[in-house]
Amino acid sequence: MKLELRGLAPGTRLGVLAGLGRSGTRAMEVPGCLLYTHCGSVPHLTHDTLDALGRLPAVTQLPLATVAEHQEVLEAFREGAAKLAGLHDTVLFCSLQDPAAPCPAGYNTSKSVSLWSAAGRIELTVPKYVAMQAAVRPDWYQSLADGDAQPAGSSLKRVRRSVERTLTHLDECVLLHQKTAELVGAELFGVVEGADVREERVRSARETAKRPVGGFVLDGFQSGVMDQALRAQLIAAVTAELPRDKPRLVLGVGRPDQVLSCVEGGVDLFEGFFPFVATERGCALCFRFAMEPDPESAVQEQNGVTEDGGSSRTEDPEHQDLQQMTRFEMNLNDRRYRDDLRPLVVGCGCYCCRNHSRAYLHHLLVTKELLAGVLLMLHNVSHYSSFFSSVREALATDRLETLKSVVLGV
Ligand SMILES: [Zn+2]
Repeated sequence: MKLELRGLAPGTRLGVLAGLGRSGTRAMEVPGCLLYTHCGSVPHLTHDTLDALGRLPAVTQLPLATVAEHQEVLEAFREGAAKLAGLHDTVLFCSLQDPAAPCPAGYNTSKSVSLWSAAGRIELTVPKYVAMQAAVRPDWYQSLADGDAQPAGSSLKRVRRSVERTLTHLDECVLLHQKTAELVGAELFGVVEGADVREERVRSARETAKRPVGGFVLDGFQSGVMDQALRAQLIAAVTAELPRDKPRLVLGVGRPDQVLSCVEGGVDLFEGFFPFVATERGCALCFRFAMEPDPESAVQEQNGVTEDGGSSRTEDPEHQDLQQMTRFEMNLNDRRYRDDLRPLVVGCGCYCCRNHSRAYLHHLLVTKELLAGVLLMLHNVSHYSSFFSSVREALATDRLETLKSVVLGV
C-alpha cells in the first residue's frame, strides 16, 4: 500500500492510495469514504441493484460486530468474509464496532473489549480478536482498542487507562498478526484514543506511530460526543504527530459539515454509514455540494429557500444523536411530499431520481413497502459519493472554502 499525495496547502491532503489489497492492484482516491456493509452486504441492496450505482469505493467496510456471530461458519469456509459475501473485487477493511448501531460503554476490562453483535455482547481478548480476524481474512483491520473513555464524562485517570490499554492491545495484536498465516499481507491499523484530553491524544498518536502499522484509526470523535471546534483542534493535534505517508481513517464521523472539518484537519478516510442511517429514518440526503450551481437554484439559495421548500438556514444541535434527522436531509415521510412530483434532488443522475418522484417515495414509506429502502439507499449512497468527489475537486482547485459555504448554506 502506498499513499501518493499531491502538494497542497499545509494540513490538507489529496491523493491516491495505491497498491491496495492482497493483489496490490486496487487504488482509492483520498479524501474518500468506504462502502458500508452489514455482514458484507450493503443494507437494502442486492449485487444487481448495487451495480446501478456505477463506480463503487475500492474499499469495503465490514464491521466485525455484524459478522462476529458467524465466526464458526467463516472458519469452516476458510476463504474469508469477502468471498463468502460475494465481494470479489474489493479491498476489505474490518473495523470493530458498527458505526450505525449504539455501542454501550462501561464493559471493557484491562484484558478485554466488548463487541456488540446482534446476538448480544461478546467479550474479546486480543487472541480471540485476532482469531476472528483470521477467519474474516480482511485486507485491512484495526487493532483492538478500548474506546470507552468518553469526552466530558470520564476522569483523566480513565482516559489515560484507555490510551495505555489500547497501546498494550496493539503490541499484542502486532505479535499475533506476525504469527498468523491467514493475515499475511493484511495491513494492521493502530487506533488513536485519548477522548478530549489533548496531551493524551498526542501521546496516543506519537506512541502508535512508533509501531509497525499500515495506517491509523482515529476513535472517539463520533458525532454527538463532542462539539466541532474541539474535534477540529484535537484532530489537528493528532494528525501533526502522524507520518505523512500513511492513511488516517476517522470513526463515526458522517455529517457533511463534520467531514469537511476533518478533511481540513488532515483525515483521509471516512466510514460510509451516513447514507444508511438517513435511509433508515426515511430521509433523502439533499444538501448542496455543486460549486457552480445552476442560475435558478442560485436565486432560490439567495432567498433562503431550498428545493424541498424548507429553509437552508435551519440549524441543528451538534450534540444530537445518530438517530435524529440532520439539516442535510429531507424527510419523505412528511405529508407535504404527497403530491410532489419532482425527483428527490433536481438534477441528480441516480436511478431513483431519474425514474421516481418524491410523491412515490412518500407513498412507499407510508405503506411500508421494502422498495422505499432500496430506492432511498441508491440515492443516498450516490449523493454521498458525489459529495466526496466534490471535496476532492475543491482541494485540487483550492476552493474548499467555497465548498464549505455551499454545503453549510451560508
Ligand atoms: Zn438521486
